[in-house]
Amino acid sequence: MEVTIWGARGTFPSPRKDTVCYGGHTCCLSLRTAAGEYIVVDSGTGIRDLGERIMAEAEEAGNGPVRIHLLLTHFHLDHIMGFPFFQPLFSPRATVFVYAPVAPEETRKHLAGLMADRYFPVRLDETRSTKVFLECEPGLVIGGVGVSSCPLVHPQGSVAYRLESGGRSVVSATDTEHPEKGIDERLAAFAAGATRLVYDAMFTPEEYAAAKKGWGHSTWLAGTELAAAARVEGLILSHHSPDHTDEMVDRLLAAARRIFPRAEAARQGWSWDLSKG
Ligand SMILES: [Zn+2]
Ligand SMILES: [Zn+2]
Repeated sequence: MEVTIWGARGTFPSPRKDTVCYGGHTCCLSLRTAAGEYIVVDSGTGIRDLGERIMAEAEEAGNGPVRIHLLLTHFHLDHIMGFPFFQPLFSPRATVFVYAPVAPEETRKHLAGLMADRYFPVRLDETRSTKVFLECEPGLVIGGVGVSSCPLVHPQGSVAYRLESGGRSVVSATDTEHPEKGIDERLAAFAAGATRLVYDAMFTPEEYAAAKKGWGHSTWLAGTELAAAARVEGLILSHHSPDHTDEMVDRLLAAARRIFPRAEAARQGWSWDLSKG
C-alpha cells in the first residue's frame, strides 16, 4: 500500500526556484489500497497530478471503474483549491466519495461554491463522475484500511485523519495549533504508536512566538514533542510555509532531528510503502 505526498505546502502554492526540493503544491496525500482504490487526504493543488496518475492507471487497466475516497480535513482554500481540477471528477467511470467533518449537504455546498458563478466554467453537478457526500463515521473501513478522525485546534475547525492497515498507520495532522503549555493530549492519544505522523510545521518557534499565536498552526519543535509523547515511529514535518525556502526547511529538519532523530520533511512526489514504513 503506497502512500504518496502530492503537495506539502500550506496556505498558498509556492512554485519557485527555491522550493523545488520540497515542492510548491498545497496539501494532498494519497494511500493506494491493495485493491487499487485511492484514499486521499485533502484536495490542495497537488491533487491535480494525482488525478492524472489515477486516470492513466485506469486506462492501462482497461478503463474499468475508478473509486476514490477523498477525506477533507476542512475547507480552507489550500486544502480544496485543487478539487475542480481533479480529472476523475469529469469521468463517467469514476465514483468520488467525499468525507468531511460536517454534514454531507454542507460539504457539497462548499465544493459546488468553488465551481459556481464566474469562478469555474463547469458546475459541480455538470461533472460526469458519480459523487457521494458522507461523514467520517467511527469504525469506517475503506478497502481494508481503517479510517478515523480527531478534531484539531484551528480557526473554523479541522480534523486529523488516521489510516491504518495491518498494524501500520499514517496520521495526517496538518492544520493545528499546539497548546500554550504541554502537548495536545487528545491528538497524542489519537496518534499513539502511529508508523508515521505528518504534522503541521508551518512556523519556526521564533516566528510563532513573535507574531503567529492564535493562527491555528504549529512548529517543528511542538511536532517533536508530540511525536515523542505519542511514541510514533516517524515524524514528517509538513504544511511548509510559503515563505520557507528549501534551505530553511533543511535547517528546521536538522534541528528537529537533534531532538527526534526519526524526523523527515514532507516532499512533493515522495512515496513509501505503508506495509514497510
Ligand atoms: Zn492549511
Ligand atoms: Zn486551515
